[in-house]
Amino acid sequence: MSYVGPEFDPSQPPRRSVRRPLTVAVAALVPTCLAAYLVYQATSGSDEGEPARSLPVSSSTSEGADASPGSASSAPSGTRGPEKGNHKDDKGDKGDKDGKGSDGDDNDSATKPTSPGHAPGGPLKGKVVVVDPGHNPGNFQHTAEINRQVDIGTNRKPCDTTGTSTNGGYSEAKFTLAVARNLRTLLEKQGATVKFTQDGDRPWGPCVDERARIGNKAHADAVISIHADGSGAGNRGFHVIMPAKVKSGAADTTAIVAPSKELGERIAGKFVAATGSAPSNYVGGGTGLDVRKDLGGLNLSTVPKVFIECGNMRDAKDAALLTSGAWQQKAAQGISEGIAGFLRR
Ligand code: ZN
Repeated sequence: MSYVGPEFDPSQPPRRSVRRPLTVAVAALVPTCLAAYLVYQATSGSDEGEPARSLPVSSSTSEGADASPGSASSAPSGTRGPEKGNHKDDKGDKGDKDGKGSDGDDNDSATKPTSPGHAPGGPLKGKVVVVDPGHNPGNFQHTAEINRQVDIGTNRKPCDTTGTSTNGGYSEAKFTLAVARNLRTLLEKQGATVKFTQDGDRPWGPCVDERARIGNKAHADAVISIHADGSGAGNRGFHVIMPAKVKSGAADTTAIVAPSKELGERIAGKFVAATGSAPSNYVGGGTGLDVRKDLGGLNLSTVPKVFIECGNMRDAKDAALLTSGAWQQKAAQGISEGIAGFLRR
């Protein structure tokens, strides 16, 4: 529902990141994904609920939250529709600060530590990590609010999107919260201060620009935005999205490109080890790494930040993993180790 961003930039191929030593392990998996890469038929629109980036090979301009052009045939409306009432375990609609939009700094409640009482010491003591669970289970019921356009520096795009879901109706928003909560526990055990952009504790959103501001205002040492993709069946694996250099309007990623790249590479490497999942076979040329300049959550960040698309919810094999509590814990473990390595570097 929205905008299709400035797409793929040939001058910045995602695979260029491969030269870093940290991605050697990831790159070693390239042969597995090579065939798919050569086809390279579609890439996902991953994001903060931001729309799919269009690729040269795709004529799609659909604006699915995370749906890639390739997913259109298998899930034409699934990325949009309400998820069959699976909102029960998200706290959903408390309605505290809802409706104020994203322009004001009116969401301070979301920036407060969501789990006080973390370990007083530990290797990450003094470090602040902002965790951004993509989308919101309540977005399905607030389409007018989340469709409102917000400024992301380079252009305007919808406040947020619903996110995708598995064919069985398990929503991305539910997945992102599950992994985020596991991640919080792991990071707090190591002494980090963890803040969420939302914890299922507001009816919708926040908007993507507000999500970025929450990390900025917290002076986060690292920010991770958690997602799962909505691409075509057969497209599998995870990828990490890092900010491109963008300087336009309120967006200036100059200072965060390098540290975000290191953060992303560390997370990708640890994610492979923890989950056993292969890097995406449809984005990033087998590296599990991508660079984008069309995501407001990255463009507006002033602190190191990456997104991770943990898998493809529209692929049955990936969906079986994404809906598994045990796998969600492994995913959180991999992300946690990547962040911890980055913070201790
Ligand atoms: Zn998403």
